[in-house]
Amino acid sequence: MNATEILDVLSSHGAVMRGHFELSSGRHSDLFVQKFRVLERPRLAQRFGESLAGLFPQDFDVVAAPAVGAVVLGFATALASDARSVFAERVDGEMTFRRGFEIAPHEKVLVVEDVITTGGSAREVVDLVTRMGAEVIGVAALLDRGDPARSGPHGGLGAPLRALVTLEVKSWEPSECPLCAAGQPLEDPGSRRIAR
Ligand code: ZN
Repeated sequence: MNATEILDVLSSHGAVMRGHFELSSGRHSDLFVQKFRVLERPRLAQRFGESLAGLFPQDFDVVAAPAVGAVVLGFATALASDARSVFAERVDGEMTFRRGFEIAPHEKVLVVEDVITTGGSAREVVDLVTRMGAEVIGVAALLDRGDPARSGPHGGLGAPLRALVTLEVKSWEPSECPLCAAGQPLEDPGSRRIAR
């Protein structure tokens, strides 16, 4: 799937909505993302996994994903590339491999993330894998929200980032929100989905 097809799928399932929304942070935004509207459909997740694997055509042995959000995509990407699928989870605030997951020092690893905003979780998995002596060949993401605060080589992720779709997302404090100023009412993404 190319970027336009993927964006169509994300939009038609309500995984990406354009409008006027209040984020959990309290800021207002012109975009709302609920990735599980697509990831709850295994055949779509499978196709995204194939596309994610295609972003890095070189061989890799392991796909590593930050739990919980990226576990489904990590599995689908590993399935498409015949790699192992492992995930890291937070223990006392630290990304850690539990459940006996091991990565050997010579192995090549693709980190898979669902939505990259600051890239913090993906960066932690890159660092974790690198500390184990393995090589991270890149970070493959479903959606890059293009956070302008991200900076440095590879956007500060520690490995090359490639995303299936990149969307510029704007957000504002409510007092500075141009959508509020234009009188556009706030929308509840849940109700729009039910109304469809
Ligand atoms: Zn607003």
